[in-house]
Amino acid sequence: MVRLAVIGDPIDHSLSPAVHSSALDALGVTYTYEKVQVKKGELEQFLAYAKEEGITGFNLTMPHKVDILPYLSEIDEAAERFQSVNTVRVEDGKFYGYNTDADGYTEALKGAGYEFQDSRVVILGAGGVARTLALEAAFRGAKEICVLNRTVEKAEEICAMVKNRQKVEITAGIMNTASVSAACETCDILINATPLGMQGISEEFEDFSFLNRLPRTALVSDLIYNPDTTQLLFMAREQGLATLNGLGMLIYQALIADQIYLKKEFDRKPIYEMVSKAVRDILK
Ligand code: NAP
Repeated sequence: MVRLAVIGDPIDHSLSPAVHSSALDALGVTYTYEKVQVKKGELEQFLAYAKEEGITGFNLTMPHKVDILPYLSEIDEAAERFQSVNTVRVEDGKFYGYNTDADGYTEALKGAGYEFQDSRVVILGAGGVARTLALEAAFRGAKEICVLNRTVEKAEEICAMVKNRQKVEITAGIMNTASVSAACETCDILINATPLGMQGISEEFEDFSFLNRLPRTALVSDLIYNPDTTQLLFMAREQGLATLNGLGMLIYQALIADQIYLKKEFDRKPIYEMVSKAVRDILK
């Protein structure tokens, strides 16, 4: 029996149980998957519980992705790179950390027919995910990266961090319609890593005129998956641009985590199809 969990705070609205359950059902695995509210500062209690209860592994969300690091016996290359962990496997009383977020996004990107290699990438936002994807784009050979954010200092901080780690052309700037329009002129992959357009958030892009400036071969990628089609993606599709929502990243990072828990590789594409249908039904 595989015993899994997701920990975080808040955790009530996490889609992780639904995503992992439909994947593990499709794989014919016998498992349990718990959702555990673990507040900041309570990691140690949870780790003791995980050992006692024979938990196979667990996913982590806010606020534990960095705080877990001192408790891990080993971390994989991605966790080392991002200094952040979203997946832990428990073995012989030891904890092993992994980060599957960036690989999940890259796999979704590939599914849409795009890759970071030699691409010009524009990232809107400079939070946790923007940081991960800027570094991932650099390590995967992006030609140019531009990070635009409401608080320009945060974009500059990401820019400096990436430059420090990888030789790549990367710039930072304030995010407004004019700057996004200018950046779109030379962009192959535009990524929205802000919550603008997300369900329950009243704010939206001021206007979408920047989409006119994108090369017609560009991809518009929104990390939001609820709604399925944000206004940004709707407007991009109206213009005949390729689009990708956040469901791919959400599901592929989970499927890669499941391979770690199960210690076996499986063909992720057909499982992805089944899981995305199940998740879309839940979000309807
Ligand atoms: P975060 O760390 O909170 O960062 C949010 C970013 O959005 C910050 O740069 C913030 O700017 C900017 N922002 C917030 N409100 C804004 C507004 N009204 N106008 C302009 N910019 C605004 O969040 P995160 O964890 O990086 O997540 C970013 C997005 O990715 C969210 O929509 C989240 O749902 C989505 N996401 C998707 C997946 C997936 O699997 N698909 C996974 C994780 C996250 P300031 O710096 O100025 O505050």
